[in-house]
This record gives sequence, structure tokens and C-alpha cells, in this order.
Amino acid sequence: MNTKSLKAKKSQSAAEALTFNVAGLLGEPIGSIRDLEVSSPPLDLGPDLHQNRGVAGRLRLTRTNRGLLVKGRLSTSIAQVCSRCLRDIDYPVELDIEEEVLPTLDLATGAPVDTEAEPDALRLTDHHELELEEEVRDGILLAEPIAPLCRQDCPGLCLECGLELGSGPHDHPDADIDPRLEALLGFAPTHEV
Ligand SMILES: [Zn+2]
Ligand SMILES: [Zn+2]
Repeated sequence: MNTKSLKAKKSQSAAEALTFNVAGLLGEPIGSIRDLEVSSPPLDLGPDLHQNRGVAGRLRLTRTNRGLLVKGRLSTSIAQVCSRCLRDIDYPVELDIEEEVLPTLDLATGAPVDTEAEPDALRLTDHHELELEEEVRDGILLAEPIAPLCRQDCPGLCLECGLELGSGPHDHPDADIDPRLEALLGFAPTHEV
């Protein structure tokens, strides 16, 4: 069984780094394998979400009777803010990928395949390229947490002085609540002072 690894083109943009030419593997018997070393710069996720590092991991491509099975795990991390203490956090994201990818051209004749029959299937390009940028972007967007925490038991901010309660006990006789913090009253935990 052929397990020689296939490197992405040295590039580049995330789109280029996540594009792999699989023409060779498509010409091999069912069950043939390629291992992909994936290393991509951060993707453009729009104005509100940023990756702290690129995407890295390994994928195994297996020739199936219809196309390719793509399976493996990629990892990255996204910039988030703790929903209790508002500290910047580095939120790790693991993407488990397992997809069958089908050709757009018949592998024997080169004629276009009827893609309408399976409109939701992931398709290779008509240059026999596997493009994973969309798949990876969707995975990262889905992984974005609704209420991220810097740690599970983050106690949040003091309602009176705005200091992080996690940074140790503190005390203040002045009980005036800073009006800027009143907005936090609804969801921040309370504590005795
Ligand atoms: Zn926190
Ligand atoms: Zn306080």
C-alpha cells in the first residue's frame, strides 16, 4: 500500500495551503492512501473572529470506489474573551474531519459528472484538487463558543471595583458601584465583601 506523503504547495494564502492535488491518488487502486501534512496560515474568518495561530494537523486520504475519503484531525486556536472576567483567552479548536469527496469529472472518461444527484457532496475541482478551506472555515465557525470561560470556575469581576475576583481576596469599604459595571450585574456572580 502506498503511504508516501503528499506535501501541499509551498505557499501562501490559507486557500493555497489547504489545496492538494490528488490526481495521482485518483489514478491508483481502491484502498490506496496518502498522508497529508497540513500547515496553513490563519484563515479570513470575517471581522469578528481571528485565529491566534494557523491550522495544523494530519489528514489521511483513502481512494474509495467513488472518490476519496478524507479523515483526520486539525487544530488551531481562536481569540476569545472570557464571558465572566473579560480577559483575553486563547481558545483551542480541534477539527475532526471525515468526509467522502467526490470527483466532478468521471475518472475514466473525463466527462462531467452529474453533480445534481448529490448536491451536498464535497467535490474535487475539475483539476483534481481537494480544496479544504471552506470545510476548515465552517468547522472553526461552528466551534466558536457562546460563552467562553478562561477557566471553568472563573469567578468573574467584582461588581463594586471591577477587579478580577480570581486574583485573590480583596476588600473595600466604599460600596459605591461604578455605573460602568452595573451592566455586568445581570450575569456576574456576587461575592461577600
Ligand atoms: Zn475569566
Ligand atoms: Zn471588589
